[in-house]
Amino acid sequence: MLVLGDQLDAEAAAFDGFDAAQDAVWMAEVDEESTQVPSSQPRTALFLAAMRHFAQALQAAGRRVHYTRLDDADNRGSLAGELDAAIERLQPQALVMTAPGDHRVLRALQAVAAARGLALELRPDRHFFCTVREFAAHARARRTLRLEFFYREQRRRHGVLMDDGEPCGGRWNYDADNREAFGRDGPPAHAEPPRFEPDAITREVLDLVRRRFAGHPGRLDSFAWPVTREQALHALQRFVAERLAGFGRWQDALWPGEPWLWHSQLSAALNLKLLDPHEVVAAAEAAYRAGHVPLESAEGFIRQILGWREYVRGVYWTRMPGYAELNAWDAHEPLPAFYWSGDTPMACLADAIGQTLEHGYAHHIQRLMVTGLYALLLGVEPKEVHAWYLAVYVDAVEWVELPNTLGMSQNADGGLMASKPYVASGRYIERMSAGRLCAGCRFRPGERIGDTACPFTTLYWDFLLRHEATLATNPRMAMPLKHLARLDAAERARIGDRAAALRAGTAGV
Ligand SMILES: Cc1cc2nc3c(=O)[nH]c(=O)nc-3n(C[C@H](O)[C@H](O)[C@H](O)COP(=O)(O)OP(=O)(O)OC[C@H]3O[C@@H](n4cnc5c(N)ncnc54)[C@H](O)[C@@H]3O)c2cc1C
Ligand code: SF4
Repeated sequence: MLVLGDQLDAEAAAFDGFDAAQDAVWMAEVDEESTQVPSSQPRTALFLAAMRHFAQALQAAGRRVHYTRLDDADNRGSLAGELDAAIERLQPQALVMTAPGDHRVLRALQAVAAARGLALELRPDRHFFCTVREFAAHARARRTLRLEFFYREQRRRHGVLMDDGEPCGGRWNYDADNREAFGRDGPPAHAEPPRFEPDAITREVLDLVRRRFAGHPGRLDSFAWPVTREQALHALQRFVAERLAGFGRWQDALWPGEPWLWHSQLSAALNLKLLDPHEVVAAAEAAYRAGHVPLESAEGFIRQILGWREYVRGVYWTRMPGYAELNAWDAHEPLPAFYWSGDTPMACLADAIGQTLEHGYAHHIQRLMVTGLYALLLGVEPKEVHAWYLAVYVDAVEWVELPNTLGMSQNADGGLMASKPYVASGRYIERMSAGRLCAGCRFRPGERIGDTACPFTTLYWDFLLRHEATLATNPRMAMPLKHLARLDAAERARIGDRAAALRAGTAGV
């Protein structure tokens, strides 16, 4: 029975009917999973630490585990190579696994099984609320895919936040109440997420990753992610008790030096399957029903998991492999080198990338409206943006990362995921951080040309100029294009010149 690094669930379908007398589990740590993109040190460490703890728990429960460690002398370096060697050595009669989340991995394992003349039985992944088949049926019935319709269907089907067939509170969506910025004094006092100090198993992994992936991005000094199911459950319980209440209100807010705020930091535990989304959604709904958290917080949080998370998985599995090739804005710039170091005078990017390298974490608005927005406006090749997001975050697995990056953030899928590109000038970042990020920056968010012009602002106008004809066909872009129409030819030329200097790296960033 095959268990991958993001399948750490002892209740998964692959374990159904497991007979300890004759069945065995196969798990392998391999270099390829850390080098196909330069996986950050926190990301690799989290996967390996969680895998080793899971294998240990299986063994403690009396299950036989064939486990290859990264530093085993004869490690073949790839899942395919390791599986092939294990088949040769163990001569299994059949291979069973829960359907993997990653297209590339599925194809590689199927190829090995086929070459060895073995059937690879794929069992359904019960972790998700919606099967790929159900999503495909939903998509077939519609001309355009939009989260809202899917989300409502999910709420109805699973009876989540429903009262007598109607949405709790009479509305499906409280997004409009969830866009507050902090005041000038910044975020009010709030609890920090729990830290899970590395035990002996994790410390050994940290040493291994430091040695083996010394040149990879990110640092391990503050590594404190949950690596076991018990720790993940504790993180969930603390989040619901201490911070869920504020989740809705400040979901989009930014503040320098504050990586966690009211976000849950549960994505990695969810994606590794240490947590089940059903239990996470149930915990949030129970907190609302008990009167501990407001409806807009519970609904906003549940929408991310029951809605967005399932939706992006459906997009991934119904559109791959072609989806990864899309580049609707014909963008071909390289990713700026500072994405890997955080070394940039742009305060918002330095802050978001700095915490990304330290913790392997940034919250959604930092990913979408800071790092993602800059890459979109600059015109970076979507595949390069995708490789960066897949490499740096502890929660990065392709089925969720790719549609978020290529679709939601870079709008490279021609509007499949989002009805308009998420474009904004530096004014958005100024507003969502109550001016604090920009106050510590040498650029001015309101200026679009000149030496102190905010690069986001210059590139925002440049994006509208470069794509004016295409954007004109989108009614949701009418307002920005109306503003653009007021710019005379000389101003347009000055914007284009400064944008070109930003791309050429001669504008001091
Ligand atoms: C460019 C880009 C890349 C991203 N890459 C990833 C990724 O590799 N892995 C990943 O899990 N999420 C990714 N996201 C989605 C989202 O940013 C993260 O899930 C979230 O920031 C994780 O932090 P959290 O657990 O504190 O989330 P919270 O803000 O507390 O949200 C609660 C949960 O909802 C789910 N969720 C929220 N937003 C999304 C979304 N857009 N898509 C899917 N699930 C969502 C997550 O499981 C998350 O844990 C990406 C978003 C963008 C814009
Ligand atoms: S001025 Fe522009 S670059 Fe500087 S922090 Fe504000 S938005 Fe970011």
